Amino acid sequence: MRERFIYDPFVLPFMAGFIYILIYLFAGIIKTVKELPYEDRKKLGKSIFSRKIFVSIKEIFIECLIHRKIWKRNPVLGYMHMSIAFGWFMLIILGHLEVQLYCPDRVKLPYFPIFFRYFMMETETTLKGSLLFFLMDFFLLMVLTGIGLAIYKRINSRLMGMRRTTKLKIGDSIAVYTLWAIFPLRLLAESFTSGISGGSFLTRGFGLVFESFVHNEALIRPMWWAYSIALGAFFFALPFSRFMHIPTEILLIVLRNAGIKSRKTNAGYGNIELYSCSRCGICIDACQMSSAAHLDRKTTVYFMRMLRDEKGNIEEAAQQCLMCGRCVDACPVGIDSCRLKQNVRRSGSFHSPQQYQYIPPAETIRTDVLYFAGCMSHVTPGIEKAMRTIFEKAGVNYRMMDEGGGICCGRPVMLLGQEESAAVLIRKNTDIILQSNAKLLVTSCPICFKVFNEEYDLPIPVMHHTQYIEQLLDTGKISVNHTGLSVVYHDPCDLGRNSGGIYQPPRQVLYQVAYVMGNPNEREKSLCCGASVGNAVLTNDQRRKIARDALEKLTEEHPDILVTACPLCKKTFAGAGTQQVEDIAQIVVKAMDQ
Ligand code: SF4
Ligand code: SF4
Repeated sequence: MRERFIYDPFVLPFMAGFIYILIYLFAGIIKTVKELPYEDRKKLGKSIFSRKIFVSIKEIFIECLIHRKIWKRNPVLGYMHMSIAFGWFMLIILGHLEVQLYCPDRVKLPYFPIFFRYFMMETETTLKGSLLFFLMDFFLLMVLTGIGLAIYKRINSRLMGMRRTTKLKIGDSIAVYTLWAIFPLRLLAESFTSGISGGSFLTRGFGLVFESFVHNEALIRPMWWAYSIALGAFFFALPFSRFMHIPTEILLIVLRNAGIKSRKTNAGYGNIELYSCSRCGICIDACQMSSAAHLDRKTTVYFMRMLRDEKGNIEEAAQQCLMCGRCVDACPVGIDSCRLKQNVRRSGSFHSPQQYQYIPPAETIRTDVLYFAGCMSHVTPGIEKAMRTIFEKAGVNYRMMDEGGGICCGRPVMLLGQEESAAVLIRKNTDIILQSNAKLLVTSCPICFKVFNEEYDLPIPVMHHTQYIEQLLDTGKISVNHTGLSVVYHDPCDLGRNSGGIYQPPRQVLYQVAYVMGNPNEREKSLCCGASVGNAVLTNDQRRKIARDALEKLTEEHPDILVTACPLCKKTFAGAGTQQVEDIAQIVVKAMDQ
């Protein structure tokens, strides 16, 4: 192996971009770590010097280089992402290996491994040389196929199972087009140099083809210049583009594995989530505001873009969401975008001065089991009636907590960002619960269930009625007969996805009373009914479109009854078509009577 040169001015664009991005990333990490609360900084410090760091490295490899989650979603899309990320990573690693093997004293020159073929002359005659040539060409080809697929995806994303892709901003366009240029330019540069510095099946092959009609040697330096300029331009565009997700996602994984979670502000961890969004657009297809109401521009990816650019009406964009969590479940990066939106709502000015102080203290109730029907159960009285029957047949000492009205659990105002009003409601409800001496709180509404569990500090357990009915059946306090009916079960967002996945208890109950039909939109993939109190901006017409579309998808197999476990979903689906819709408690009562 012989060194041809040690330096050429064409390395300058690459070096300028490289130094710029290093300084930018270093400053970004310092700023983020400073924004973290003290206890999170402590957790991060501890995790770096524990085995958690190995868990993070493994996850970085699997998710950032191999893109496992995207593979699971669509193999072509997975290969596209993996071939670019993993192929490029391998080219960098092999380039450094070559320097270590042949000229270790050059390793301190950052440009040397990148432009190795220009500076060194190596022949394919040695085993070591031909193997490295082959591997470099193999991974270059891998990246080029990925770039080819990325270009095709811009034209026709359906090949990769995506209905929509996001529109590019200026920063994105510069970064995308320079990224697309980097590897074809590298191929040309190495092909033109291959007659002097050697190559393998790809670069040598192309070199020979070019030799037949151009003067390769005259084009060597222009091509290496072009390659270096493309690299430098990509680094300069990186912070203003979606590709910033590449370094940020690595930090996100480390923070997450350190046990750091989203908080009630978007500073620190929230910002890292924001910059980790690759604008892949996977959340567009997951969102029913897009698929059913054609509001593509209201979906999470556009909200994230507005928030990052601090442009447009961010508060309105944060309100424009059903908070169903489908995009959170679909996101390959694991970004809790609902939390980011909730934090914007919390800090925004979309508030009314309502404080709820005027609500008088409720009478004291003494009981073993408190039942909180929730506002929506009062407008669907069949659920409340069914629950009374179940309590009575089970011989439970229960009392209605919100009989004849009552106080809202606080989640609707919380979703609007009105934390102070919610705090008043939480305090009043907590007083009633504590004074009751109850040992259990049962609720029929998943919205109330979620807020009682997550925002109240209660000394007693909280159960959704599906869990409670399952327990009554298991302990033999109630018994049922099979009705012979065929049903489809709809998982309410706030009971399933948004409450850690309460999927099994309702099914265990339903198996005893009916034939339960499967549906592609169940469990994590469950559809929102469209009436969510999370969205304060959708029109009635848009909500109706979402409800009808969901109802159609859920009842494709024509069940006798669509069963749900949320009064709001029940009311919405019942009003969206002619399908019979019932709550799980009502089916159970029907089965008890038989
Ligand atoms: S939020 Fe997640 S799914 Fe949506 S564009 Fe960003 S990375 Fe992709
Ligand atoms: S939470 Fe639901 S409605 Fe909101 S953006 Fe995500 S998928 Fe769409």
